[in-house]
Amino acid sequence: MPDVRVAINGFGTIGKRVARAVQAQPDMVVSGVTKTGPSHGCSLAERLGLPLYCTSDDKSDIASFEAGGYRVNGGLSDLLSKSDIVVDCAPGKLGASNHEKYQQAGIKHIFQGGEKHNLTGMSYTSCSNHSENLGASGTRVVSCNTTGLARTLVPLRELVGELKVECTMIRRAADPGDSGRGPVNAIKPVLKVPSHHGPDLMTVADGIQITSLAVAVPTTIMHVHSISVTLPEEHGLDTNTVLELWGNTPRVIAMSGKEDKIPSTAEVMEMARDIGRPWGDLHEIFVWTDGVSVDGNTLRYFQAIHQESDVVPENIDAIRALLSLETDWRASVRLTDQSIKDSLV
Ligand code: NAD
Repeated sequence: MPDVRVAINGFGTIGKRVARAVQAQPDMVVSGVTKTGPSHGCSLAERLGLPLYCTSDDKSDIASFEAGGYRVNGGLSDLLSKSDIVVDCAPGKLGASNHEKYQQAGIKHIFQGGEKHNLTGMSYTSCSNHSENLGASGTRVVSCNTTGLARTLVPLRELVGELKVECTMIRRAADPGDSGRGPVNAIKPVLKVPSHHGPDLMTVADGIQITSLAVAVPTTIMHVHSISVTLPEEHGLDTNTVLELWGNTPRVIAMSGKEDKIPSTAEVMEMARDIGRPWGDLHEIFVWTDGVSVDGNTLRYFQAIHQESDVVPENIDAIRALLSLETDWRASVRLTDQSIKDSLV
């Protein structure tokens, strides 16, 4: 079977990472990436050997790339005509207008967590609803926070049954490459209570009743979740069995703050840089083993999310779901993760 041709519309924080992850896979190629106009991101596309297109079909927009010294292959319509699927990595809330273009082109499409579930009526996380997404024409990979919640809560629900969850999200203020957001010297609660973040999990996973509060803090790398789960009365779990469960869960890393000397997100990201993925990414959700406690039917824990990268491998699995390339989510996750690992050697 020929490689699947994947278009990436929007080559920013998420788009460049998804493009590299696609390049690492044995069953797909990047047909092209788009930029709005000439900028340093175009040099990255050239360096990675990715065909460059313009986000619009307007002739003067396309010509601006040549004027800026970049070789451009055409507009979005040209790219879509040469592709089997498009991963939309445009800034949040541009989905509706891009959705129309994808429908007109008759191409399968994947949006990101900045869009709402009802844009396509489908959402995706590898461990919770791969099978529901098989053959779908469009979906949305849920946000970095929702992906993180799914990774640790879905296996728990599968083991013990329905869960009731309260989560406080301590969120990074801005991405490292974003100088336009804050707060810089403040701790800023999200005054919409409960926040939308936790309940978004219910778009991909049944049997988890969840509410959340969120607060933004002046860091640029990682979110931390403080989570309290009410387990069913007869749950049969203790701290060790919960850790064993997560130890066998793909894309979850559990380490000790004390013994492994990883007391904060700073050390988590240093460890991620040691792994050697591009940009120092950490695709896995990080759980502090010494921050986990089962007390009666309450489980409490902390987890950290590398916001720029945990959704990246999920996009690869979502491509396989929509194109029905792999029906078993675990098999897709294994192939995605091993291929990314092999590409680093
Ligand atoms: P970004 O701003 O870093 O990158 C977006 C890119 O899209 C930029 O290169 C921009 O020039 C380009 N663009 C602008 N208008 C466009 C258009 N009309 N069509 C196509 N591309 C266009 O944004 P990002 O952080 O990569 O976010 C992309 C999506 O991923 C959003 O939905 C966001 O909510 C979601 N997301 C972001 C993060 C994160 O931490 N950055 C994490 C998870 C999900």
